[in-house]
Amino acid sequence: MSTLRFKAIEKASLHSPVEISAPGKLPSEYYGKYVFNKKQMVKFLSKETMQTVLEAIDKGVTLQREIADHVAVGMKMWALEMGATHYTHWFQPLTDRTAEKHDSFIEYAEGSDVDVIETFSGKLLAQQEPDASSFPSGGIRNTFEARGYTAWDPSSPAFIMDDTLCIPTVFISYTGEALDYKTPLLKALSAIDKAAVEVCKLFDPNVKRIYSYLGWEQEYFLVDQALYEARPDLVLTGRTLMGHESAKNQQLEDHYFGAIPPRVAAFMREVEFEAYKYGIPLKTRHNEVAPNQFEVAPIFGETNLAVDQNLLLMTLMNKIATKHHFKLLLHEKPFDGINGSGKHNNWSLGTDTGVGLFTPGKTANENLQFVTFLVNTLMAVYKYNGLLKASIMSAQNAHRLGKNEAPPAIISVFLGKQISTVLDKIEYSSENDEITVNELKKMKLGVSHIPEVLIDNTDRNRTSPFAFTGNRFEFRAVGASANCSTAMIVLNAAVAAQLIDFKNEVDKKMKKGMKKEEAIYDTIRLYIKESKPVRFEGNSYSEEWKKEAERRGLDCKTSVPLIYDAYTSEHSVKMFESTKVMTKKELEARNEVKWETYTKKIQIEARVLGDLSINHIIPVATRYQSVLLDNICKMKTVFEKEKADELSKEDTSLIEEIATHIAAIKKNVDEMVAARKIANKIEDTREKAIAYHDHVLPYFDIIRYHVDKLELVVDDQMWPLPKYRELLFTN
Ligand code: ADP
Ligand code: MG
Repeated sequence: MSTLRFKAIEKASLHSPVEISAPGKLPSEYYGKYVFNKKQMVKFLSKETMQTVLEAIDKGVTLQREIADHVAVGMKMWALEMGATHYTHWFQPLTDRTAEKHDSFIEYAEGSDVDVIETFSGKLLAQQEPDASSFPSGGIRNTFEARGYTAWDPSSPAFIMDDTLCIPTVFISYTGEALDYKTPLLKALSAIDKAAVEVCKLFDPNVKRIYSYLGWEQEYFLVDQALYEARPDLVLTGRTLMGHESAKNQQLEDHYFGAIPPRVAAFMREVEFEAYKYGIPLKTRHNEVAPNQFEVAPIFGETNLAVDQNLLLMTLMNKIATKHHFKLLLHEKPFDGINGSGKHNNWSLGTDTGVGLFTPGKTANENLQFVTFLVNTLMAVYKYNGLLKASIMSAQNAHRLGKNEAPPAIISVFLGKQISTVLDKIEYSSENDEITVNELKKMKLGVSHIPEVLIDNTDRNRTSPFAFTGNRFEFRAVGASANCSTAMIVLNAAVAAQLIDFKNEVDKKMKKGMKKEEAIYDTIRLYIKESKPVRFEGNSYSEEWKKEAERRGLDCKTSVPLIYDAYTSEHSVKMFESTKVMTKKELEARNEVKWETYTKKIQIEARVLGDLSINHIIPVATRYQSVLLDNICKMKTVFEKEKADELSKEDTSLIEEIATHIAAIKKNVDEMVAARKIANKIEDTREKAIAYHDHVLPYFDIIRYHVDKLELVVDDQMWPLPKYRELLFTN
């Protein structure tokens, strides 16, 4: 009998909901308790310091050292009052997680009657030099300039995690290149602010600032901790590399929005309590499509803050899951045959005057502004559709995309019937046509119907990777474990670049004597025509779409290492450099990191798969084979030979079947190892990643096929790994 698996099952059956009590009567009582927000600033900073900080945040300017000193004093007082003993710069290196190195507040107190005092200065708040030489840098930091530094980002508030004051920071090399996700994100946000303000001024001269907003929807799986620990593949790679489908999966469609299981409900409650303390405005929670899959989403907020909150929430969820005897799976495809997990990025732009730029307006002027931003976004997604795909691509997400639950690896835009009709009208109205202005007024009418139509599910195309949803775009191809920044950097930078082009175009036309509205219309009309190939209203999951997309010239590449090439194409480099978001050197270095990460992930999976197949599966299958052989031999001691043969027929064919699978597993594992050895000899990171993709990865499915077949025939009592039905239906 497989003791490990059955012990795990037994242990899991004993897990019951953990008692959770609310930190207060109402969330408003403890909301933001762990965050150095305005409420705390009022208490701990002087009026002038607070004003300067808030202004700097709003205008995105750097703070003087003197101000940092004042802030540090206040922050320290607050942190000590909250029971913190340490502080850290909290940053986002190019790995899957955030990084922190804690320092205690204590210093020797020279000439004082106490031994140590708690200190914290503006210098420590503003900048630090973590020993950062072992973070991925893509070769930007060679050995003699191995240091990078972290610098305070005042636009994301400091918070207290356990006993530590965490200060959100950027992470940069000594020569100024970004080594993290936050630096280029802040630059992209600044670029879209500048570019969009210029365009907004065509409609409203009062606009001074544009905000980019993000509302992420985080999908995840919960698996019982005991069962998880009995699956080395889950532990080491975050996904199951083998496992036959459970007889019951999601086919009854009974999980989505179903009643939340009590253990999970307790987990969700605690996540919410904690999140509120960190000022993360969680709003929705529900069961997702797959068994043991769930989703959480906040009220949307400013993009930089929303990204940090998502990272913080992932950390919190991880910790809290353990307390509830669960393991949180954020991998994009932990289980084959059922849905994987994404992180829909709802994105919009808004003015400091309170206008949503993707919200249909009430007046003709507002609607022209709305159409302008909509069409420019369409153009950006069209021009940079390969790059947008690269921004969400990873070894993990590649398993999710195109698997009949998420769109294929092709970025297209869904607008819905109403908006499409509006664009068609603009496209086909002729130049200088009186109709234009009238259409615009009429559009007001048409547009006012949009919310109604969007409620209708037929128009909420769930298969589109990039969908307009009434007042925002929803970028659905983002992976569940990803840092939202990568998608947000590309999207905001690309739209910024596009808006700059648009403004230049309109200015040129106006200089030639065109009236403003006419110039805008004229440009938009051209864009609508040009960007048509990226619009798709049909079923993105279908095979026909792949062929159609190819015909339309959209990026249809599926190989992850090749998809990354989009970052360093001449076209992309120009876009990133003109918006000052990233330099060619940075882009090249980051691709090095991406290829390296890809290779390592496939390499680890290949090792785990080989180990499980050879050391767990084959021995068990062989043992079962000898049970069968034993049975056949014993038959002969009881029955006549002919009768015994007759009675052993099934066992004999089973033995043969098992032998075939064992042989196939052995052969393919050997070949996979050989392919890995060849790939490992390649120096060039890109070529190596390609070799792993082309020559190592294909063995995964073959090996798995035979292992899963064995799972179907080997005695359940002997099977070593918790099965899908156990992983997915225990909660
Ligand atoms: P659905 O499942 O229908 O897509 P959810 O309520 O799960 O909707 O998630 C929608 C997300 O979009 C939430 O995070 C919400 O705050 C966010 N959102 C709503 N309006 C905007 C907007 N204008 N800009 C950005 N995000 C938005
Ligand atoms: Mg959504």
